[in-house]
Amino acid sequence: MAKCSLCGAPAVAEVRYARLRLCREHFLEFVERKVERAVREHHMIRRGEKVVAAISGGKDSATLAGVLARLRERLGFGLVLAHIDLGIGEYSVRSRRASERLADELGLPLLVLSVEELLGDGVPRLAMKARRPACSVCGIVKRYLLNALAIEARADRVATGHNADDIAAYALKAFLTQNLEDLRKQKPATPSIEGLAVSRVKPLYSVYEKESYLYALLRGLPFYHEECPHARLTSLDFHLKEMINKLESRHPGIKLQLVRGLARNADRYPGEDWEPVPCRHCGLISYGGECSFCRLTSRVKGEPLGGKVRGKIRSLIEGSHI
Ligand SMILES: [Zn+2]
Ligand SMILES: [Zn+2]
Repeated sequence: MAKCSLCGAPAVAEVRYARLRLCREHFLEFVERKVERAVREHHMIRRGEKVVAAISGGKDSATLAGVLARLRERLGFGLVLAHIDLGIGEYSVRSRRASERLADELGLPLLVLSVEELLGDGVPRLAMKARRPACSVCGIVKRYLLNALAIEARADRVATGHNADDIAAYALKAFLTQNLEDLRKQKPATPSIEGLAVSRVKPLYSVYEKESYLYALLRGLPFYHEECPHARLTSLDFHLKEMINKLESRHPGIKLQLVRGLARNADRYPGEDWEPVPCRHCGLISYGGECSFCRLTSRVKGEPLGGKVRGKIRSLIEGSHI
């Protein structure tokens, strides 16, 4: 049986790009150190800040919450979890349950926002009414609700569980389609814009998907295995991930080189042409005066709902202890 390169105990993982075989304890420490280094290097979280970690119920959010829960003592920040219940049938029911179990396990406060309760429809019905792909509607709704939640909770950061595989695939797609503005969006930390948008950070940006999976598993953190039923195995994103992992197996470390390089260079790519301005309906970030959430809800529900939704979120926060 292979042995840990550091202590000689039985190895549970091989990290080829670092030429290491690691036992359980040393693997967990390896992942935690990687995340801590990323957080410090890119100034993702400063002492005294309040962080909202967005959790979907999957393995990456389990790892994100698990590692941040350990780092918060050392780095000195406050941490709350937020879950968006998308209203996608059984998938959402189980994802929500996994998120609640995770919060319990880590002893962290959790705020759940239900798209059905806030908007009267879940994501699939909203997408049908808007005649748009479910994933694009889901993206707009999630981004808006998380930002609104962070603004209303006076948080300094929203942390998401994007891993190195997600970011590498996204970056290659942006390059292939020449949507170079999208490369800039892959920065590990974007700044806050006073009153409009809360800083987004990606503490797992250099953690491989299989490292994230193994971390959650070895720590015994609860998570739900299933993919969203709307995610398709025929999509370009999926093929790009497969391709990058094939490359990685022949050239260990190439994925890490890509995401770390992008983290350094993201600012060199073009940004949005327009300055962000407050949405005329809800006051949150927009480019051109109407945010994509208010535009979507105008179309689907007959009126822009950003303002009302912000109010509902505010009362939810007041009634909770976050
Ligand atoms: Zn060891
Ligand atoms: Zn708006």
